[in-house]
Amino acid sequence: MIDLSHGFSRRKFIAHTSCFGAFYAVAQLIPLPALAETLGIDSRVSQTPIVDKGFASVRKIGNGLYATISDPSKGNTTLCNGGFLAGKDGALLIEGFTTTAGASFQMDALRTVSQVPVKAALDTHYHFDHSMGNAFYGANGVPLWAHASAAKRIFENYMPLQGADQATALAPYAKRIKDAKSDAERQHAQSDLNAVTGLFQIVNSSILGLPNHPIDPAKLPMTIDLGGLSAVLESHPGHSGTDVIVRVPEQNVVYTGDLLFNGWYPVCFDEQATVSGWRATLAKFAAFDKDTLFVPGHGQICGQEGIATIREVFDDIAAQAEKMHKAGVPVQEAAERYVVPDKFKNFPIFAWGFTIGPAITKLYAEWQAK
Ligand SMILES: [Zn+2]
Repeated sequence: MIDLSHGFSRRKFIAHTSCFGAFYAVAQLIPLPALAETLGIDSRVSQTPIVDKGFASVRKIGNGLYATISDPSKGNTTLCNGGFLAGKDGALLIEGFTTTAGASFQMDALRTVSQVPVKAALDTHYHFDHSMGNAFYGANGVPLWAHASAAKRIFENYMPLQGADQATALAPYAKRIKDAKSDAERQHAQSDLNAVTGLFQIVNSSILGLPNHPIDPAKLPMTIDLGGLSAVLESHPGHSGTDVIVRVPEQNVVYTGDLLFNGWYPVCFDEQATVSGWRATLAKFAAFDKDTLFVPGHGQICGQEGIATIREVFDDIAAQAEKMHKAGVPVQEAAERYVVPDKFKNFPIFAWGFTIGPAITKLYAEWQAK
């Protein structure tokens, strides 16, 4: 049984669940768009993947640079994107993925192009879909790097779910569907229940692997020399409070982790997510070189147009929220009332309570703190 009074209240559970379940729940509704035509002619991006397993493919996107792009509609082995960098002396793997099979798949892909020792694997942040395959690295003696808070947050957020009774834990979500006062509210509550159901099933079938090489954000940026290939780690606020990106300045390539959702509504539920911080980070990305290639945490590889689009999504959420705030609409109501504009109608919203709802709640809190 779960002691609901002890660290597992509904509020806390919402705040503590990762974006993973959300992907799981709507996975079949999220076909991966093809590479944009503009990227089709980018000489850095190989047209043919070195491997394609359906759930993810790996392609060359630079000199020693590879992107692993997931297609959630074809399975949940990886769910998030990742990639790897292979220099003359060492390789860096990016992401622990949702399963050990996902992490293993990416390692195999690396080994088809390079036999250099793996210097490290990096979780770009602690969320479930980026870290539940971490045990693969432990089993293979690969040092696992992450933001200094990531290990603690994996433990705090996912440990309590292991062995918990699913029906008991999900009861508050089922109740929200029953108590909904409108169709919209009911649909939002249902999307949240789907999300946390998926989360539960995966957490309970995973063995937690904690990063053993904490990266102190105060010591970033940090340059890693892989032999003729230098990567720079940076930390930026926005998505999870543990976000680390990998930049390859010489080739204008950036692995953003979930600081970029390309063509998706951004996942803002994390207790340490900050809408103003995230928007400031995106403004920084927009100031990177105009030919920058971004490997987002979710969605297809993109150029600066992907950054412009997610900024527009945030602008739209903020504009609608501000109108409601000024009109005196209470926060809970405002969080349900956002209307998806036509231009974003194909953008996946894998769970309302992980994306738009908390974005509005956080915006209200920011305005009220002023
Ligand atoms: Zn995330």
